[in-house]
Amino acid sequence: MKILFSTSELAPWVKTGGLGDVAGALPAALRALGHDVRVLVPAYPALLQAFPGAAEIARPHWLGGLLPTPGLREATAPDGTPLLLLDYRPYFDRTGNPYLGPEGRDWLDNHLRFGLLSRVAAWIGSEASTLDWVPDVIHCNDWQSALAPAYLAYGAERPVKSLVTVHNLAFQGIFDHAALFELGLPDAAWSMHGVEYHGYLSFLKAGLQHADAINTVSPGYAREIQTDAEGMGMAGLLRHRAADLSGILNGIDTRDWDPAHDGHLVKRYGSRRLEDKAANKAALQAEMGLDVRADRPLLAVVSRLTEQKGLDLFLEVAARVLDLPAQIAVLGSGAHALEHGWTAFARRHPGRCAVRIGFDEGFAHRIEAGADIFVMPSRFEPCGLNQMYSLRYGTPPVVRATGGLADTVVDATDEKRGNGFVFGPATAAALFAALQRAAVAWRDPTLWRRLQKHGMARDSSWAESAGHYAALYEKIAG
Ligand code: ADP
Repeated sequence: MKILFSTSELAPWVKTGGLGDVAGALPAALRALGHDVRVLVPAYPALLQAFPGAAEIARPHWLGGLLPTPGLREATAPDGTPLLLLDYRPYFDRTGNPYLGPEGRDWLDNHLRFGLLSRVAAWIGSEASTLDWVPDVIHCNDWQSALAPAYLAYGAERPVKSLVTVHNLAFQGIFDHAALFELGLPDAAWSMHGVEYHGYLSFLKAGLQHADAINTVSPGYAREIQTDAEGMGMAGLLRHRAADLSGILNGIDTRDWDPAHDGHLVKRYGSRRLEDKAANKAALQAEMGLDVRADRPLLAVVSRLTEQKGLDLFLEVAARVLDLPAQIAVLGSGAHALEHGWTAFARRHPGRCAVRIGFDEGFAHRIEAGADIFVMPSRFEPCGLNQMYSLRYGTPPVVRATGGLADTVVDATDEKRGNGFVFGPATAAALFAALQRAAVAWRDPTLWRRLQKHGMARDSSWAESAGHYAALYEKIAG
């Protein structure tokens, strides 16, 4: 199969969350199965720097509306995946986050920036394309490329198929009606059966409406988003498309995230050398300015600090958690209130709680290795990667029973498979009860080793999930 994988993030160069990780790993896993996968991604500064020799191979023009004429540059990722870099400097030559300006607000021209990404994905599948490569399926990821199926529906002459993967339904790419013209979409697209969503234009809704198939990143999330409570306004449409909607659990990059070969750690370890994890704990405590003590469980978070992640609930019970006794380490950035709340809390509890605001890949690895317990009390979680990293690093997670967390973490009460702690209601009290259970279990070495080993033995690689994607492409392409 020939697959065009369209994405607005690509690890390790440009990443704000799970989408970046998926885009950095899934195409290579599909290529290992023999599929011809090419990745279309905006040529952000980090990518132009990483691939200075990327030559221009096409200039798609007459894209419609106010869309400019970009260049398409070709490069090859170190893992062999061909990259198509969408080069239009006025849109993408901006430092920092791909979506937000310096004040933390969305760039005002995001509809054009990602409209261009979607439009060029459709162009590559269209008869206008000057490339000598035609995909069978365009695989769109999140709202940023979800307009491609609409462009195919309203303009393409060729029967190129499309798949939209929802990594997070909360981000829907919603813009004013004026965007319709600016994006070069016809008036006919403005209907509830097209791109219109309650008087606005929604990229994601357009994709959910027009794609040949839809999937989300876990089976649990695929079920949840069809309910009015968790469908974020799209439940009706998703139920309508239920026959074309499935869930495929994300994998993780098992080379990047492997405690036995992780260059970020002071001491590497595996499930047969778990005692070497202790050196990582001591190093992490020292690095973060926590008291260096082996006799306290160290609970940790690596996350976007947003309401979705439930870290307000954790903050609410943090003082009681310290009194268990335990220590807390947090790495994250996001909402000002949470950044401020956690920073202030850490200042009041020196040596026992430490908070680092920022995004730091190496530090994330050291936390996964150095912590005893990983905390993920998400209100909703399409898949979640950190709990899979923590399982692999012998750091049992405490998670809320939602989406991909419920699909990957088995509560300790299950003696044969238990690998963490799962709680139900999104309340501070339920979270605290689970954290308390974890802290008690940590003091029982036999039980704890069992949980760690179950987690470390879990196969979180992409191999199986890549097979599911390949089967889905084949089904769509008929
Ligand atoms: P989401 O995509 O909703 O943010 P995921 O758990 O799917 O959540 O993926 C988050 C990814 O981003 C993980 O690879 C995680 O390690 C990483 N990450 C999140 N915050 C930080 C941070 N502050 N520093 C380093 N990595 C982070």
